[in-house]
Amino acid sequence: MVLMAIFITVVIAILINQNHYSLTKDIGSLRENFYSSERKSIQNRVINVAEQIESEKQRTETLLQEDVKQRVNEALSIANNLYKTHQGESPERLKQILLEALRPIRFNQGRGYYFIYDLDGTNIMHPILTHIEGKNLWDLQDVRGSYVIRDLANLAKNSQQAYHRWWWSKPEILNSEFDKIGYVAHFEPFNWFIGTGEYVVDVEQDIQRRLIARISDYQYEDDGYIFIMNSKGALLSHPNSSLIGVERLDAVDKTGKKYVKELIDTAKNGGGFVRYHSLYTPTGSSDSSKLSFVIYLPDWDWVIGTGVYLRPVEDFLSDREAQITERNQRELEQVILASVFGALALGIISLMIGNAVGKRFRRLKTQISSDFRQLESAKDQLQYQALHDSLTSLPNRAYLIDFIRQAISSSSQDNTLTAVMFVDLDDFKKVNDAFGHSIGDKLLTQVGQRFDALLRSNQLVSRFGGDEFVFCFPNLGSVSDAERIAASIREIFQSEIEVEGKVISSSCSIGVSLYPQDGLNPEDLIAKADTALYTSKARRKGKVLFFDESINKRVQYELTLEKQLRCAIKNDELYMVYQPQIELCSGKIESVEALLRWHNPELGHVSPVELIRKAEEIGLIHEIGQFVIRTACQTIVKACPNGDNALGLSINISPSQLIAKDFLSVLNTIIDEEKIDRQRITIEITENVLIDDLEIVTPILTQLREHGFAISLDDFGTGFSSLSYLCNLPINEIKIDRSFVDKMLINEQSDALIRAIIAIGKAHSMKVVAEGIETNEQNQHLLAHDCHLGQGYFYAKPLLIDDLMDFKQSNITTSCINK
Ligand code: C2E
Ligand code: MG
Ligand code: MG
Repeated sequence: MVLMAIFITVVIAILINQNHYSLTKDIGSLRENFYSSERKSIQNRVINVAEQIESEKQRTETLLQEDVKQRVNEALSIANNLYKTHQGESPERLKQILLEALRPIRFNQGRGYYFIYDLDGTNIMHPILTHIEGKNLWDLQDVRGSYVIRDLANLAKNSQQAYHRWWWSKPEILNSEFDKIGYVAHFEPFNWFIGTGEYVVDVEQDIQRRLIARISDYQYEDDGYIFIMNSKGALLSHPNSSLIGVERLDAVDKTGKKYVKELIDTAKNGGGFVRYHSLYTPTGSSDSSKLSFVIYLPDWDWVIGTGVYLRPVEDFLSDREAQITERNQRELEQVILASVFGALALGIISLMIGNAVGKRFRRLKTQISSDFRQLESAKDQLQYQALHDSLTSLPNRAYLIDFIRQAISSSSQDNTLTAVMFVDLDDFKKVNDAFGHSIGDKLLTQVGQRFDALLRSNQLVSRFGGDEFVFCFPNLGSVSDAERIAASIREIFQSEIEVEGKVISSSCSIGVSLYPQDGLNPEDLIAKADTALYTSKARRKGKVLFFDESINKRVQYELTLEKQLRCAIKNDELYMVYQPQIELCSGKIESVEALLRWHNPELGHVSPVELIRKAEEIGLIHEIGQFVIRTACQTIVKACPNGDNALGLSINISPSQLIAKDFLSVLNTIIDEEKIDRQRITIEITENVLIDDLEIVTPILTQLREHGFAISLDDFGTGFSSLSYLCNLPINEIKIDRSFVDKMLINEQSDALIRAIIAIGKAHSMKVVAEGIETNEQNQHLLAHDCHLGQGYFYAKPLLIDDLMDFKQSNITTSCINK
């Protein structure tokens, strides 16, 4: 409303201003138009009069000529009439009659008369200058030297009638010369010429008089008149007759202006307007200020002018101005009134609209604030979700990292330790496999709750992913505090957990890292705890392991191992060696065990045990396994072709290699491609593959046997060594682990076990191979036990193929000698 009031005020102010401006402009243009039309009117009047005068003046000579001709013709007709009527008279008498008749005739206000000369120039009659009558004026010259009488006589003689012009002084004005127009006619009876003449000036004066009289009588509008004065300021025509003829060149008006002189000067300079106070004040007016237009007629020395008295004009203009002002005022009032009413109406409408909009706005505001609340809660929820694990509702990784960061800063302030504990459930996969993922999830939730219940206010447990949980314990006084806490975490699993009626016993492994010694930032501490956990799990499940440098080194080594192994085949770093297996009774080489070797420029010689473990871990085992089978078959069949006495070839197959779906087909393909007899091949498997995947492995072994391969149970005695394997599985051979052979001579139990294994072998028609025979005593002992085959440094170390061939050659020789 305030804005509207301001707006309306401004609009009204602008309107008033504009009104004032247009009023001033209207009045200005009215004044200008009026004055300009007045000026035009008086100017036209004066120019009209001047034109009239000019035309009268133009007619002067014509009139004069007509007049003198008419007069002379009248005189001639008088003379002719008299001559005709007085024929009887003597010439002298007749001349007398004629002269008497013409002498008294006067015309043009008495100025005009007839003169008569004979053609010799003798004056016959001159009613004014009688003394020249009878005189010969043949040689008379006018004031300008022209022979006037001679010229007139010649004209009459030659043309009978003619005009003539000459300059003649006026009798009353001495030494003056005036233009005179005359007319002469030849009167033949007496050879006279009769003439008359008239001063042009006289005729002009007549016309001037007539014009002045007419102009004096001329009046227009109320006070309008034309005035005429000469250049000396004497008025010739003016309504105030007292001013006529008075030379007033120095006359001044009431402001001291020499207005008469200015009027004359303006007229002489081409004409124009002059403003002054006239001496003559028209009746009924108090003010004599006047605007006149004047022009100058130089021939007659006339200044002709007329003017308007400004008082009435100003009065008229004032009236008109007052009318315009009043009209404008009325219009303005109407506009202001309309504006005010409009503003009021607008104000009311805007109030109503404002009210309605306000109501809507308030509704919208309520709606918006409710939306905002929802948004806020959604945001909180999102924030919660962003920082919490959806399954266990424990903080997640992001939350954990932030928490550890704060814990580090707190510990650095009070010089305490922060422990980060990476906890992983042991064999959680088995729970999932056995009971399903839903039970697995619920187990995780319950474990999470138990973990959470352990914590004090400034401690945190988060679910890191899968079955991994990470704890953070800030402000610990010593490492033993951390050890105590770790132990308490493990204790949680001492009581069984029941999920949906199923009792699950579980355990966990823990990797611990400590701030500041193991790392200075959350990521580092988590990584170190993870490394410790990984190592702990690799060693043995269900343990707590604190991170230290050896772990780090181990991890680094593992990383290098992995990296180098990935390029080992490509870089041709892998090769095979072959260890002979000797028939103990004959000392003859019966077969060889293919053993893998890896020499890496960075790691040196790497044990096949490490290599195979890593290859299994990173999934390279299949590629490497194929390399082993192909290389061994290729090498052996080449060095020792198929045949009756061909060497057997034992190939170690790792568990994951064995259970791979395509193992048998790959093996068959290679065997076929390398064209080695299947009967020469023994597949060596270890006990642990039987423990872990017995159900999967059994049919594979059966198929292998069906395809003609022999199967050997390697490292027998080191694992669970279940005798049931030997009975139920299609095994051809048992390899006694070298640890028993090693202790055989000093340990009764080992010796007994070896004898038992040999006996079982015999009972099941299996070959028994003793590994790791290093001494002849061991050899003899095993021979005494009736062990079938022996393998060990006593006979030969694993050999390159060429060395093997040399060995074989010397073995044949030796065995022949022995025989
Ligand atoms: P293994 O199959 O039991 O192989 C016998 C191991 O005993 C070989 O160790 C051999 O060098 C060693 N040995 C033989 N005679 C003696 C002896 O008189 N004294 C001592 N101290 N050791 C003896 P190696 O070559 O280091 O192999 C270790 C294990 O690595 C093997 O045990 C086998 O399990 C595995 N392995 C080796 N090559 C391969 C392979 O190509 N594939 C698979 N899957 N595993 C292999
Ligand atoms: Mg072996
Ligand atoms: Mg072995």
